[in-house]
Amino acid sequence: MMDAARLFRSLSHRKKTKSNPMNNFLSSRAQNLRQGEIRSLFNRSKSYKNVISLGIGEPDFVTPSTIINAAYQGLLNGNTHYTANEGQPSTRIAISTYLEKKGLFYDPVDEIIVTMGGMGALSTALMTILDPGDEVLIQDPQWLNYRSQVQFFRGIPVPVPVYEQDSFSLKADAIEKRITKKTKVLMINSPNNPTGAVIHPEDLTGIADLSIKHDLLVISDEVYSELVYDNSKHISIASLPGMKERTIMVNSLSKSFAMTGWRIGFAAGPTEIINKMTVLQENLVACAPTVSQEGLIYAVAHPEEIELMRKEYEARRDMMTELINHIPGLSCVIPRGAFYIFVNISGLHINSRDFSEKLLRDFQVVVIPGSAFGEKGEGFVRLSYATNQQLLKEAAERIHKFCNQLLEEKIL
Ligand code: PMP
Repeated sequence: MMDAARLFRSLSHRKKTKSNPMNNFLSSRAQNLRQGEIRSLFNRSKSYKNVISLGIGEPDFVTPSTIINAAYQGLLNGNTHYTANEGQPSTRIAISTYLEKKGLFYDPVDEIIVTMGGMGALSTALMTILDPGDEVLIQDPQWLNYRSQVQFFRGIPVPVPVYEQDSFSLKADAIEKRITKKTKVLMINSPNNPTGAVIHPEDLTGIADLSIKHDLLVISDEVYSELVYDNSKHISIASLPGMKERTIMVNSLSKSFAMTGWRIGFAAGPTEIINKMTVLQENLVACAPTVSQEGLIYAVAHPEEIELMRKEYEARRDMMTELINHIPGLSCVIPRGAFYIFVNISGLHINSRDFSEKLLRDFQVVVIPGSAFGEKGEGFVRLSYATNQQLLKEAAERIHKFCNQLLEEKIL
């Protein structure tokens, strides 16, 4: 029998050696699909020993056992069937109650759909909305799957720069400059991947006003909404006046509840859009996994259970930003949410891809080049602190040595 390691080796070998005649059958859209840089670096890191990965953005915690138990009980109770395409009523009621506690009012009957993770919500939303040639405003740098999803669904991604001097908060005037007759959608993501930024409340109001003025639909990706620090609370753009009717709010339990493998999330928005997303979901995947819907019901009713994880992320952020800001050639602004630090490497005069490749090769630490997230990400690397404090310290030491080495090479 083939074990997992052998399978992995044989697949990567096959990819390199064979030019497959079956490529002729691929659609032009499929041919243009590329594996994201995060995955490929992660795969490459497997050929090194003693690697510390600050690369992949997923919690290092296992899902709280209470959530696992609730899902298990659901299965034992016979809940092993398909559910309604939009999710079982009890799941939608649980989501509606969870949102209500945050001051967001959505009718579980026809304003909420349960999806396969945040990605399921994002892709179904984009497929439902986009016609070929529609322009979608996306901040730069941004999580790379936005761009490829929009392109795959024949939309045109239009980058809107964010800047370190603004703590990477998205600004209404930068958006407005890029609006054309073809602009249909604005995608926002706060707390943000890759920068960890939380959009400043004044900027959020400015963005809301602008969306109303230019009649834009906003897709607000709030998958990190539970992970905000410094005693602040997440604000959804959907809660601002006039915004609920033009916002598709996307959320997921992946990050907040450490449930990436459960593939469970949801979208809340205007009835007409949610209804069409439901029909589309019927055609694509039928429904989100029933067992995960059972886990969700328990999880969203007990957000206090993730407070310890949130506090631990905050402690790691404080430790890591302090360490980074003491490494020669590196600096970072303090991110207010998620579990990423966008580290400025411009003092080292090396591009972000070379930095990441050499760091992996020489010191076995994985970070993601900022350029993978867009043109404006160059000069930065993304580092995830979803790893325990001991490993983070060890990684910081290795990065310190690496930067010293780079600086010495420059001087000699
Ligand atoms: N949005 C952002 C900004 C993300 O970073 C991710 C995951 N990395 C997702 C959506 C997708 O999350 P899920 O696992 O819920 O599909």
